[in-house]
Amino acid sequence: MSLAEDFAAITTAERPARTDVILRRAVVLGASMAGLMAARVLSDHAEEVLVIERDETDAGDDPRPGVPQGTQVHALLPAGAAQLDRWFPGFYNDAVAEGLVEPTPDQAYTFVNGVRRVTPPPLTEIRTLISTRPFLESRVRQRTLALPNVRLVAGRADGIGFTGDRVTSVRYVPAGPGSPGASPARSEEKVSIDADLVVDATGRSSKLSDWLGAAGWPEPKLTRMPIKLNYASALFERKPGEILLSTSQTMAEPGQTARMGGILPVERDRWLVLVAGFADDRPSRETEDFHRRCREDFPWVYSHVVDNNPMVGSVVTYHQADSRRRDYDELDRFPAGLVVAGDAVASFNPIYGQGMTSATLHASCLSAYLRSNPSLDEPAWDYLRQVRVVVDAAWQISTFADLALPHVNGPFPRGYKVTRFFTGLIFSASLYDARLNDDFARVTTMLAHPSSLAQPKTLARALRGLIPRPVATTDR
Ligand SMILES: Cc1cc2nc3c(=O)[nH]c(=O)nc-3n(C[C@H](O)[C@H](O)[C@H](O)COP(=O)(O)OP(=O)(O)OC[C@H]3O[C@@H](n4cnc5c(N)ncnc54)[C@H](O)[C@@H]3O)c2cc1C
Repeated sequence: MSLAEDFAAITTAERPARTDVILRRAVVLGASMAGLMAARVLSDHAEEVLVIERDETDAGDDPRPGVPQGTQVHALLPAGAAQLDRWFPGFYNDAVAEGLVEPTPDQAYTFVNGVRRVTPPPLTEIRTLISTRPFLESRVRQRTLALPNVRLVAGRADGIGFTGDRVTSVRYVPAGPGSPGASPARSEEKVSIDADLVVDATGRSSKLSDWLGAAGWPEPKLTRMPIKLNYASALFERKPGEILLSTSQTMAEPGQTARMGGILPVERDRWLVLVAGFADDRPSRETEDFHRRCREDFPWVYSHVVDNNPMVGSVVTYHQADSRRRDYDELDRFPAGLVVAGDAVASFNPIYGQGMTSATLHASCLSAYLRSNPSLDEPAWDYLRQVRVVVDAAWQISTFADLALPHVNGPFPRGYKVTRFFTGLIFSASLYDARLNDDFARVTTMLAHPSSLAQPKTLARALRGLIPRPVATTDR
């Protein structure tokens, strides 16, 4: 199968026709997007699924400490939204009924260097899910934990146990009474539970490499790209019915500073507004600085929203030093009974919005693996290789763009210059050409693999875009 075909199989929205229960107990570490989606898939194949989470998660729609990025602008790309509907039929429409806002294409203001993009032709399958991060996560959590064989265990995962070449248990520190095996008296007492399959979904700061190393297993290569990204987000009141959606990107070009902005109309009649810079360009927590940046560094819609509506709460900042990936599939040896998902495998520059969608696609890979009649005494190489297809696709989109930033000095992949040239060509032409905009959007929204852009007819169309033309579009 080609990469594009592999990717198409992973992103399918079709529900599995047949699922067999092949596990007695599966244990998932981390109850955020990757862990919850893995638990949903595992509920089809295990008698019992336990999800160990260190945070209290009855916090409803509020941000929580284990997901500190939850205060920042998040959107779920169409490929991720399709996966939610695949595993929780009716998810999107239910979310709309619960307050999710669904902007129409003509309400989208997408700017590149201050120029508004052409409105893409309607693509029925393109349905980005726009809300605050806690709103989305809490709905995924409610639906997953409503499954009869899935149970949340409050505690901090502390290690994995082996029997020969297999992971057969998880150690954790219970948060309190009520957890399986927990003693109410001693707070740091560790508990061990048996598992036929363990899923590490503990996010970017996963300790799985250390746990493997400590048990004598090889550790995966960790690749980092120093993006030095600085986010600041703030909520504003929104007049009922007023809807617009915006992203704004200023490219790293001579004489201008690379910046990103976003305006999302979110549930409970609020706007969530983002201003972001790189390296030394750091938005502060000062309200005045936020307003000034919206007025001076972004197109008119930004000041329109922030100057005409009261701020709710205060500005919250977030710094992400790097994009990173751990290539578990490249290891010589890996234990059976173990898989890893979500940011624990790879996390990208968040401005491309790929993280949660990747987590849903890893769950799709897990489903395909569990339906392939796998030998559970062997390492889950097939799963890890499929996850790599998703990671490579997201990594290519985000890091190829980031390598153009002046402070990012690598690592440069093989063939970077040629791929960068053609991608840059298609990107520039897509600003004016609705067909190319559509092709490009399918890749950036993870509905299609990046290799789908390498078609002769796509490149020819982009080359025609090199012919000079008057710039007709204004930013309004
Ligand atoms: C500023 C910012 C903006 C972003 N914007 C977007 C966006 O627009 N769209 C998008 O798709 N993605 C976005 N992302 C990425 C997205 O947040 C992540 O990709 C996504 O949350 C990954 O989910 P995860 O479940 O793998 O990990 P996480 O969400 O990090 O969750 C890890 C979970 O594991 C738990 N945990 C950790 N250690 C333990 C332990 N030892 N025991 C028990 N539990 C543990 C944590 O409490 C947490 O619940 C953004 C990220 C950032 C930083």
